[in-house]
Parts: sequence; structure tokens; C-alpha cells
Amino acid sequence: MTEYVYYFGEGHADGNGGMKDILGGKGAGLAEMTNIGVPVPPGFTISTEACNFYYEHDQSYPPSVKDRVAESLARIETSTGRQFGDPSMPLLVSVRSGARASMPGMMDTILNLGLNDTTVEGLAQSSGDPRFAYDSYRRFIQMYSDVVLEVGREHFEEKLSALRETIGVETDPQIPAESLRDLIVEYKAIVREKNGSDFPQDVSDQLWGAIGAVFRSWNNQRAITYRKLNDIPDAWGTAVNVQSMVFGNMGNDCATGVAFTRNPSTGERQFYGEYLPNAQGEDVVAGIRTPYPISRAQDPSHQEASLEESMPEVYGQLVDVYRKLESHYHDMQDIEFTVQSGKLYLLQTRTGKRTGFAAVKIACDMVEEGLIDSREAVRRVEAGQIIQLLAPIFDAEAKSEALQKGRFMAKGLAAGPGAATGLIALTAERAVEMSRGGKEPVVLVRIETSPEDIAGMNAAAGILTARGGMTSHAAVVARGMGKPCIVGCSQLKINYARSELRVEGASRPLEEGDWISIDGTTGEVIDGQLPTRSSEVLQVLIDGSLDESDSETFRNFSKLLSWADEMRGLGVRTNADTPRDSMVARRFGAEGIGLCRTEHMFFHEDRILVVREMILARDESARRAALVKLLPYQRDDFVAIFREMAGLPVTVRLLDPPLHEFLPHTEAQISTVAREMNWGFVELRAKVAQLHETNPMLGHRGCRLGITYPEIYEMQVQAIFEAAGQLKKEGLDVRPEVMIPLVGTVGELTLVGNSIRRVARETLDRMGVDIPIVVGTMIEIPRAALLADKIAEGAEFFSFGTNDLTQMTFGYSRDDAGSFLPEYVDKNILPRDPFASIDQEGVGYLVRRGTELGRSTNPKLKVGICGEHGGDPESIFFFRAAGLDYVSCSPYRVPVARLAAAQAELERQASEA
Ligand code: PEP
Ligand code: MG
Repeated sequence: MTEYVYYFGEGHADGNGGMKDILGGKGAGLAEMTNIGVPVPPGFTISTEACNFYYEHDQSYPPSVKDRVAESLARIETSTGRQFGDPSMPLLVSVRSGARASMPGMMDTILNLGLNDTTVEGLAQSSGDPRFAYDSYRRFIQMYSDVVLEVGREHFEEKLSALRETIGVETDPQIPAESLRDLIVEYKAIVREKNGSDFPQDVSDQLWGAIGAVFRSWNNQRAITYRKLNDIPDAWGTAVNVQSMVFGNMGNDCATGVAFTRNPSTGERQFYGEYLPNAQGEDVVAGIRTPYPISRAQDPSHQEASLEESMPEVYGQLVDVYRKLESHYHDMQDIEFTVQSGKLYLLQTRTGKRTGFAAVKIACDMVEEGLIDSREAVRRVEAGQIIQLLAPIFDAEAKSEALQKGRFMAKGLAAGPGAATGLIALTAERAVEMSRGGKEPVVLVRIETSPEDIAGMNAAAGILTARGGMTSHAAVVARGMGKPCIVGCSQLKINYARSELRVEGASRPLEEGDWISIDGTTGEVIDGQLPTRSSEVLQVLIDGSLDESDSETFRNFSKLLSWADEMRGLGVRTNADTPRDSMVARRFGAEGIGLCRTEHMFFHEDRILVVREMILARDESARRAALVKLLPYQRDDFVAIFREMAGLPVTVRLLDPPLHEFLPHTEAQISTVAREMNWGFVELRAKVAQLHETNPMLGHRGCRLGITYPEIYEMQVQAIFEAAGQLKKEGLDVRPEVMIPLVGTVGELTLVGNSIRRVARETLDRMGVDIPIVVGTMIEIPRAALLADKIAEGAEFFSFGTNDLTQMTFGYSRDDAGSFLPEYVDKNILPRDPFASIDQEGVGYLVRRGTELGRSTNPKLKVGICGEHGGDPESIFFFRAAGLDYVSCSPYRVPVARLAAAQAELERQASEA
């Protein structure tokens, strides 16, 4: 028979720490602490399975539960020497929720249960403190009414504050016992009036009312939303923990507090916490009173006595307990404790949440301390968190002060982590102009960005857009550049004509040139300037302004990643198209370039004119003439990139975007370009109109360009191999790989592939050098994935372009999906944004199937992925399982990918074992 009730107390528990699924996190922690001899008040846990039963059986309990609860209560009574409902020595209990994953504050808790008009007198007598007893009862009525009877707490708060006023005191502890007794009468009257019946006096009714309410709180709106945001399945259910009460508010030898076994923001090995003398647990967390530091070392200048000073003996016991817990769990713990009449009790222990900085430090320290091995250290740090170590950061104090002063403006999608503060620039040109000569930093604020904004994005310290999702142009480019970026910030109304931006409802607009700050780690937009700091890792690795020996953060970062490298099976490359990006990515550990987008090189000031000449050419010979001018630029770009990546493969993708992206659009731009190029305005405008496409993403782009204008790809291939040949002659090891974009049919691949091989061969022969000619294709059109066996016969490698593959599999435009995708996720139509984390079922199927098919006809086929998903940990787990050889991601995601790839490997090994 299924057991639904698990007792803990007197040094022994029915359950243990490994039973989180059934006991919930809190219940498992209480059981485990009891078993290892940590002082825990006795109690019992009703399992998550009982919760699921409750929902499946029209809110009723499994038949055995009532008896088991009664038995367990009897054991608590024996253990504490108090009786539930006894008029002279009443037992009081707490009733708390506790799911498998921590959901702080989302579900309900009831304290002091077991008080009624009779037992409150018993409590007053047995504690010798009537004030304490009445205060406990009135808190209980308020909490119980709010949670179980749905009589809102505001009704009670109102009465309480009216009472304070009448008797002329400022704080609750100043209210005398008699007044509290009168208040209880008024509280009960509120319940009668709002609820239609009296406050329950039967303690057993109270208990079952509370248990049902906790189960029901699993499905309150807050909890549902929290689960959605944190990917917690609805089916898990919550457990209920019923535990005998201990009181931190029975006098000056009592206290309550919370603590971490190490500093959760820095990872410092320091017992770190807060407490309040003579208070209940809720007082510490609810922020009603500002708590005191637990030790003197934590805050040497604090005015109040630390626990270490006020209760040295208890503090000593607590230190023993925290050491015991940490060495037992081998991880940083977050604990709750109460001191009742000088005696210490632990009420909770759980794995402590920590920042990326703390996670890395704690993992490395614990390996050194022998608590965990390097595999466990790699497993411990959330891969996405490591990026926090790279981002410039806001000064924490300054930011919280700004928020307190009401400078918060809006919140969007946190697309590129880090902090940026600067002057608002509303166009790319203004961003370049305003930041020229390193005057003030600027934040580029746009409705959305496009390729022609690259220079402005590059000049800006951060990017903020009102539209767009996680793979919008702004987000992809900003992440590539490692710049803080917020996209899809829909509360921002940008008016270009008036050069201002406004937040809905705000009284005053901000203008171009005003200061603004964006936190790309959280998505918060803040009015005005905020001080930032550059990350230590970058100072050591990229700027060289800090010595490795002076940065423990850097040493830990690189230690953790080198462990990861020893463990992982997947290769990690980068998406880079400049020498600097290549250098950065290589220092971050990239093992080559998986995608070099050549079009980005075309936007530079010094060549855009020639690019336009090529596009606007009236015939092939004019186009060839323009391409001849473009060739040296491209060659020089490749020389620089290949040099940075010497010894490693570099996948160069031939031109991909629709040509009109390079053309002027507004009348003013057309007129400038017409002048520059010696064209008539009307003629140029007509040509631009002619090149306009209704649906450019599905239009004349990718290899379709290479087929209609073969001379463009020919020039690019010549440039690639001339560059490679030149470096080879210098003695460098160069490994170019040429990649064809947007292939959908074998015919396209054959035609373009043959031309590439021919031009490459001719170029190398002319130069008299030999370099392997490697030609592969992107797989980003569903048809190519479905026919991958045929495609693979003409390709040496595949690289899945999961941005386009997602776009085309779903039929969602990458640039417009921001307007409906959030609602899709909200309404559970999709579990998450498929442009950010791969849709394993659909798009993922094409990746898996495409890989299998490809290898079936070409066993040597190398398979990678270079869409944005290449830097997403969950997607990386999937790609490992799908059997890919490597992922390629933007330079700043390389450390994330290295760590995630190692974790994917550890998981695979664990599941096979
Ligand atoms: C892709 O489609 O996934 C890809 C990498 O190419 P791009 O983003 O340049 O279209
Ligand atoms: Mg693509």
C-alpha cells in the first residue's frame, strides 16, 4: 500500500533526503536533518502523491491518511509532552507547503495552528507570557482566515493599525496583552461577518482545513505562473509539512534567522546570514524589521549585536550544525533556524541559490576542500550562469538606490547580459557620431535594428529595442559582440520624428542625448546614469589589463572550463566574422569558426559603395568590374581571420542575405547614394523598387544568389583561397571550409559546389600551393533535412542553420514572431521560444533525422550546428544526444557551450550507467 504520511522526530525519520519527489524539498530536508542528528522539532510530511490523489479524487484524501495523521500527531504529542487541543499544555503546529523544487513564497503556510479560545489561555499560562499567547492567536486567526477561509488579510491589518493609533503606539510589540485580547474579539467578528460562520474552534477542523488549503495553493495563480516561468511541471504537486511549533518570539533568549553556509553572491567561504532576537520567522523574511548580521565579521560596523555576540553558545552550535550540513550535503545550504529559550532548532535546509560568481567559486573551492570531485563541480554550475563572469556589471548599491528612487522605466527580454549606461542615440548614425573620439558612451535605442545599423551597434555600449525576440537582428548581433542588449521592450514608445522615447504612463519623455541604463542580465531599463565595472575575466583574457595572479575569479573560471574540456565530447566552435571576434572566441576556447557570415564584411564604410555598384550593375560585365574591386577587401578580411585561427578550421559561408538589404531605402538616402554613384535619383529609386521583394526571407537570397550571379560566389571563393594560399606560403596551418547557404535541392548543391571546387582549384594551382578543398552546406530548409541522404553525397559537412530551420519549419518569421510568441508561451501552446531553445520535437526531429540520413550515405560527414541554439545549454544537450560533432555559437557563449557540452556528456554517461 502506498505510504502517504512520513514521520520525523527523536533522531529518526521515515523518509530521507533522497526522497524529494515524494516529500518535497522541505520534507526531505527535515527528514535528512533528523536522521543525521541535527535538532529538528518533530513533525510529519504528507506526500506529494497525496496531493495528486487529492486532485484526482475531487479534493478528497487517500483512505489511510486520516489514521496516519492521527498516529503521527500522537507521536509528536509524546515527544513534546503537549497535547493537540489540550486546555493547559496545548501543542501548536505549523502547516507548510513544500514542492520538489523550491517555489519561494508562492504557496501557503500557516503558523500557530491549534490555538482557540481555550488553548490560548493554556499557552498564556504554560509560557508565563500572556502577551505572547494572544499575539500568537491573533496572528493565527489572520493567517488562517486569509489562507483557508479566504478573508483577506487587509481587513485584519486595518483593525491592527486602528488599534495602534487608538492606544498611541508605533509598533506591534508595544501593544499590551489586554488590547490584543480585545483585538481577537474584533478579529473573530470580522471572520463571522465575512465568512458567514465562526472561526473554527475545533483544532482538528483547523488542521484539515489547513492541509486542504495548502494542497489547493498548488494551483493558485501565483504558483501556476511561477511554475511556467521556471519550467516546473504541474504534475509534481506539493507536500504538506506539519511540525510542532517552536517560538523565536517568547522573550530575549529567543531568536529566529536565515543563513547561507557560504556567501551566496560572492561564494566566499563565510557563514552568512541574518537574525532577529525575539521574533517569528516571517518577520525576518517579510522585511518588516531589518534583521541583524549573524556574525561580527560579516558586518564589523553594524550597530546591533550579532548572534555571535548576543548568544555565543547558540552561535557555536549553529556553526557546528552548518559545518555538519555542508559536509553531509557536499553543497552550500540555505537554512532557517529558531532559538526558543536558548535552545536551537533547524526548520529548513536546502541547496542555496547563488549567483554565477558564487557558483564557480564554490564549485572550485569544494574540489580543493575534497568535498566534491571535478565532475561534480562541472555538473554544479548552471552553464548559462557562467556568462555572468564576463559581463560588465552595475554597481549593486547604486542600482538598488536608483530603483528605490523610482528610476525603473520598463522591462524587456534580457537578450545580451551585462550592464550598459550611456546617452540615448536613436539612430545608428547618431550613435557613431555621439561616441566618436570616446566622448560619452551611448545606448542605441531603436524600434528594431537592421544590418545597416551595424556601425552604430558597434559604437554603442548597449542596445535597446522596442520590438523583436531572442533571435531578432539586435539580439543576435549584440550577443555576437558581447554587448548588453534588451529587445522586445514593448512599453517603450519611440518617436523618431520628435527624437524622444516615452514609457507608457510616464509623465516625461526622454530625449536623444539623455542618460539611460540597461541591465541586459535582467531586462531592466533604468532612467539616468549608473556606474559600471568591467569583468575581471575580460580584463585578464582580452584587455590584458589585469594579471591572472591577481584574479581568483579568472583562475576559477579557467579551471572549471578546463575540467569541462576534459569531459566533453562535442566540439565547440564560434560564429565570428571579424579578426577581433575570432581572437576573443579563441581566447574563450573556441576550436575554430563554425560560421563566418561574409555579408557582415560588406557593410563597412569603405566598401559599401562598391557593394552597391555590384548590386546595381546594369549587366554582368559591370558587376564583374565591381567584384574585382571588392576582391582585395574580402581577401584581406580572410587573411586576418585565418591568421587568428591558424591551426583551426574556419567555415566561411558564401553570401546569404537578400541584396536589397545593402541598398538605400529612404528618399534622402537614395539621393545621397545616387550622388555618390553618379546615378540619377529617379533611376536609382526605380532600381531599388525593382529589387524590392515582398518576402525577402523567402526570396532571392542564399545560394539562389550564387546561381543567378555566379560571379559573386566565384569572387568570394577566389578571395578565400588566395588568402589561405598566402598564409600557407608564410608557413601557417590554414583550414578553410566553404559553406553554401540555404540549399534545398541536390541540383543547387551540385551546381554551386562544382563551381566552388573549380575556382578553388584554379586559384591554388595558380598560386602553386596545396590546401584541402572542403565544401559543405548549411541545412536550414526542411526539404534539405528530409533529403539529407542525397544532399550528403555532394557535401563534406553539414551545418544546421537552426534559425532559418526553425523559421521555415514553423512558418514563423524570425523578425516578426515577437508579436505573438510570448502569448504562445503564456498560453502553453509552446513550452518556450523556439528561436531561443530548440523545438526538440519538430525542428529537432529534422536535425536528428537529417544527421542520420546524411551519415547513411556519407559516413565521414561532419555535422555541426551554427544557429543561435548553438549557445543554449538545453539545446546543446539535445545536439549531443542527436550525435552532432560540434556546436558553433557567438564568441561570448563559447564558455557556456564548453560547460554545457561537458554536462551533456556527464548526463549521457549517467543515463547509460
Ligand atoms: C541560421 O539560419 O541558423 C544561420 C546560422 O544563418 P543566419 O542566421 O545567418 O540566417
Ligand atoms: Mg540562415
